[in-house]
Amino acid sequence: MKANIQAMSDEAAFARLELLNWFSTSARIFPWREEEDPFRMLIAEMMLRRTRASQVVEVYRAFIARYPDAAALDRAPAPEVADVLRPLGLYWRAANFKKLAEELVSQHGGSVPRSRDELLQLTGVGPYVADAVRCFAFGETVALVDTNTVRVAARYFGFEYNQESRRKPAVIAAVTALVATEQPQESNYALLDFAATVCRALNPEHNACPLKLHCCHFQQTEAGHHVGVQETLARLSPAEPEHNWIEE
Ligand code: SF4
Repeated sequence: MKANIQAMSDEAAFARLELLNWFSTSARIFPWREEEDPFRMLIAEMMLRRTRASQVVEVYRAFIARYPDAAALDRAPAPEVADVLRPLGLYWRAANFKKLAEELVSQHGGSVPRSRDELLQLTGVGPYVADAVRCFAFGETVALVDTNTVRVAARYFGFEYNQESRRKPAVIAAVTALVATEQPQESNYALLDFAATVCRALNPEHNACPLKLHCCHFQQTEAGHHVGVQETLARLSPAEPEHNWIEE
């Protein structure tokens, strides 16, 4: 995150603090959040793509009980792995999990690499999963930009968004501004949980929201206050984007 974004944005600083406060009492509990092992975090993130977290819990537990590390997954018969993944309807991803394990064992000694470039070389690992592993497993400060986090940023800062928005540097900067550099893991978990339970796509809980005081969407709809969209984006956009990756 660029330091000048933080300096320019009182709203962003307010949101970062409030999201962390909210998270301290409202965090969702998932087994992969109790892990420190990068392999297990990588497996969880791969399962979570396009799948509800509540659906993943039992499958993740069964999967890790059978395959606690890359070597165990590499040794497992492919049909058996597909069976474990069956409740998620991830038959088509079973081959990816097997290939991933083979790559981790043969190319990385059974460990998960830390660098973004190496993560992206792994089968089934796209930009979002790579950055989730970098943040949650290795503590790197990186914002997780997906449909849900873009929705929160767009409503809060007051800019239009659509399916393509997450590819825009200014939008990535807006999501990044909501992530605390000193607490990237808690901050990203907070944003993900907040998007899933408060600032939902449908029926967001505006009145119970800790961000409503500075939320453009809330102010526009509840108080009729207008915020300049382009001005907001311009203010949040770094002169040179720190990264310009797109989500898979
Ligand atoms: S006030 Fe409503 S739109 Fe704004 S961040 Fe909160 S839940 Fe989302």
